[in-house]
Amino acid sequence: MQEERHGKDLNPVNKIENIIIVGGGSAGWMTAATLLSQFPDKKITLVESPNILTIGVGESTVGGGQSGFSGITSWLNMLEIKDDFMPHADAIYKLSIAFKDFYYKDSETFHYPFGKPYLHNNKTQNMNDWYLKKIRYPEILVTDYVDSLYPAMALVNQNKSLFTDNFSRDHGRTELEKRYSENEVQLYSQYSYQFDATKFGIWLKDHFCKKKYNKKFKHILAEVKDTPLNEDGIEHLLLDTGQKLKADLFIDCTGFKSILMSKFKIPFESLDKIIPNTHAWATKIPYINKEKQIVNYTNCTAIGNGWVWEIPLWSRMGAGYVFSDKFISHEDALKEFKKELTKKGYTDLEELEYRLIPMRCGIQSQLWIKNTCAIGLSAGFIEPLHSNGLHSTHEFLFNLVRTLAPGRINQWDRQCFTANCRHDFKKFAALVGLTYTLSHRDDTEYWREIQNRSWPPLLESEVSWGYGTAFYEKMIIGEFNSIGAFPCVAAGMHWPPLDVHTLKYRDHMWEFDKNYDYYITQLENRKARWNKQVKDFPSPYQYLKKHVYK
Ligand code: FAD
Repeated sequence: MQEERHGKDLNPVNKIENIIIVGGGSAGWMTAATLLSQFPDKKITLVESPNILTIGVGESTVGGGQSGFSGITSWLNMLEIKDDFMPHADAIYKLSIAFKDFYYKDSETFHYPFGKPYLHNNKTQNMNDWYLKKIRYPEILVTDYVDSLYPAMALVNQNKSLFTDNFSRDHGRTELEKRYSENEVQLYSQYSYQFDATKFGIWLKDHFCKKKYNKKFKHILAEVKDTPLNEDGIEHLLLDTGQKLKADLFIDCTGFKSILMSKFKIPFESLDKIIPNTHAWATKIPYINKEKQIVNYTNCTAIGNGWVWEIPLWSRMGAGYVFSDKFISHEDALKEFKKELTKKGYTDLEELEYRLIPMRCGIQSQLWIKNTCAIGLSAGFIEPLHSNGLHSTHEFLFNLVRTLAPGRINQWDRQCFTANCRHDFKKFAALVGLTYTLSHRDDTEYWREIQNRSWPPLLESEVSWGYGTAFYEKMIIGEFNSIGAFPCVAAGMHWPPLDVHTLKYRDHMWEFDKNYDYYITQLENRKARWNKQVKDFPSPYQYLKKHVYK
């Protein structure tokens, strides 16, 4: 191949000034907004088909907090976007994800709250205290883990708003720390949003890209019909209007179709070994009692052939059933979904619209090839159990910005982009996969198949390996900070890193034998303190009504 090209470099060093994004879903608009804000001198164009619909789902986002783990607020901060987008995107704040019936049917619900665990005087020992408490009193509920370590759970459990009349996101962090150092809940909790991703994309288009960067930005409504290749990658885009567009870099945001990337015929790596699901039914449900139903978390309930999401937005509830059609037909899955919604108390279900959405779970083997890269669903998708879609989008964009910053791109830069994005994605995929594999449900063929799978990619994953070895390495579980949500999921699914046998084997019984009541009292006291701190806070509904949806 290379000889035929008469010595021409396969991947020339590119100076990137002219960038074309194809696709106008939330990934396309997040990409445009990121590039316009971070590189105001580059020429940015977005082409979107007026006829091909966006995916139309995507309502729950992830908050940051653990070290090295960023959330959607990190991306909003980078772009200096304040909360005034919220009323346009039907947005509410989110503090946590709840998992119901995942361990086994009718098992306790557990949460994964965002933010750092509250470690008194920065001592990770507090985490061990909880495991030791559980060893001593096995009957305590697993939900006590997050209740004892995450101040945000005081808000979740009492359905209170993180923000109050004199505390909002628009205050700078330093100012807040100065003014509110008394309130540990407000200081330690991190949040994200539950919103309508399509509306969010439209807000980015109208209020950010077009309004703030009007002169540098071009928006073309047309369908890309062909993408002829040459030795540098895509030679040009051929639009249905007959127009040909050239660029230094093309960004594929065309959703599951990956119109641009697919031209290169690079392998797409499926996640079917660790993600059991293939499809989702999605619907929108009117509220019956808005104040009660607007909670600050996403609810995930495992059922016969997958799981059901409930995501409260300001004007309605979003709901969906993620399932595998290897175990149930699409029609029967819809019936099962409606049955579950009825069980949850929703009514008039026949009047709702339901959409069947096939999911392509996996990732491109190369995310930047020659002059083309991929962002959003066209790059990869896990499945929505841990609300990862937009998270991958903004993490990949952060990598893109850092790659583009020096101005010239060579093959090393392209490969680093691929490697960094894939590393982040695979860690997240392992977290989702582990939420299945730790389940002990065996009530249907679907769950029995999950019970009997062999999971080599997960056993070798950084997440489970880091967790499994954390205690062995040292009594202090500092490693947990780098593995994000996993300790919450593991605690919720009864997979503790510490048990009485380990204590004996590692000669740590002294830890258990000391006067333990003191430590347990400390854990109890702080839970009580946090609950008290938020007692008079408004409900999420009251706060949003007064400050966001005035
Ligand atoms: P799309 O929305 O599909 O947009 C593709 C765009 O490309 C469209 O504008 C289309 O017109 C354009 N296009 C396609 N072909 C052409 C062409 N030939 N020429 C020109 N334009 C073209 N994410 C979360 O963060 N949280 C969630 O809770 C969540 N839930 C999800 C549930 C399900 C079932 C699924 C499938 C996804 C979910 N996601 C979630 C992911 C989220 O929906 C997406 O990450 C997000 O909407 C971005 O989509 P996108 O822009 O990549 O693709």
